Amino acid sequence: MRIQWWQDNYLGLNGKDLHNKFLRNNLTDVFNGKTTSKIPAVSFTQTATIELMKKSGSYWPESHSDPEKMALLAIEGNRTVGFEAVRIPYCLTVLSEATGCEVNMGTADRQPSVISHPAESTIEGIKVPHDLLERGRIPVVLESTAFLKEKVGEELPIIVGIEGPAVVASNLTGVRNYLVWSITSPDKLTELIRIATDACIEYANSLFNQGADIVVLADGVASPDLLPPSAFENIMVPEYRRFCRNVKGIKVMHMCGNANPILHPLAECGFNGISVEEKVKNLAGARAILGSGVKLIGNISAAGTLLLGSPDDVRSEVIRCLEEGIDVLAPGCGVAPHTSTENLRAIIWARDEYYLHMTR
Ligand SMILES: [Zn+2]
Repeated sequence: MRIQWWQDNYLGLNGKDLHNKFLRNNLTDVFNGKTTSKIPAVSFTQTATIELMKKSGSYWPESHSDPEKMALLAIEGNRTVGFEAVRIPYCLTVLSEATGCEVNMGTADRQPSVISHPAESTIEGIKVPHDLLERGRIPVVLESTAFLKEKVGEELPIIVGIEGPAVVASNLTGVRNYLVWSITSPDKLTELIRIATDACIEYANSLFNQGADIVVLADGVASPDLLPPSAFENIMVPEYRRFCRNVKGIKVMHMCGNANPILHPLAECGFNGISVEEKVKNLAGARAILGSGVKLIGNISAAGTLLLGSPDDVRSEVIRCLEEGIDVLAPGCGVAPHTSTENLRAIIWARDEYYLHMTR
């Protein structure tokens, strides 16, 4: 019943917020260490669903390649769901494509995927193209960022996701080689990760130039679920540090899987926030490891609760996150295309309901 109450009242409340800079500043203030009146509810991972595609008229796969459709689908995530930011794009193939991989663009409910690996047999000749920013769909994301800046940049923070260096490297060489090389040829993998990091730095800075407020690196294949934590520390950490040193603006890392064993090194890379999924169960413990300078983002189960649960299930997870000290509420990983709008809205309703009770 309480959820219904918020369902009836939510859009009006949000409409009021949209006419000032509250939402934009509320998120950036968290990263700037300021006290905020409520924890922001956004998504650092992909936001598009079939329902949002229908509502906006911007369907996959077209919205992966059309800057305006890409932006309109992101804005729908605010207008219809209430996410307090806009977030593009909807895949993890843009930088991989620009550095030489071929991509299958998928369907309305299947994300694009990499189908060729130019560094499969050798990394000889692999380098950051001199015209990186003009390749593949990088111009699409840059243009879409500028479009968002112009249309909603005053009211909403703009989050742009890019593949992290481990994802780019594993796409270039194939995930099997990536994993084998981490054990048998760490020098070769390190070199490939270094090249990928150079591409990430150039791309991330160009996104900030177009008006992005936050860039989030998604680097799931560096997770302890795949890469041994020792290889993570030796190969990934120095490159993440280099990325953070050389990229201006607010930088967030989204790490899939059970990130617990690598939270400590991740906290010291220079990221402003770490986005984790529900396999990180002890949020208070994670919060303590990160320290006050690095914000904890997450971790409402995207593949479980948001896709398969009820709004009440979502509400329970939201309250757990808030009580355990999450800094920014968000889905734990990419939203599945068949997720209901009702479940996504429940994130924001439950957060608002929580504050209503707190202030009584
Ligand atoms: Zn993830």
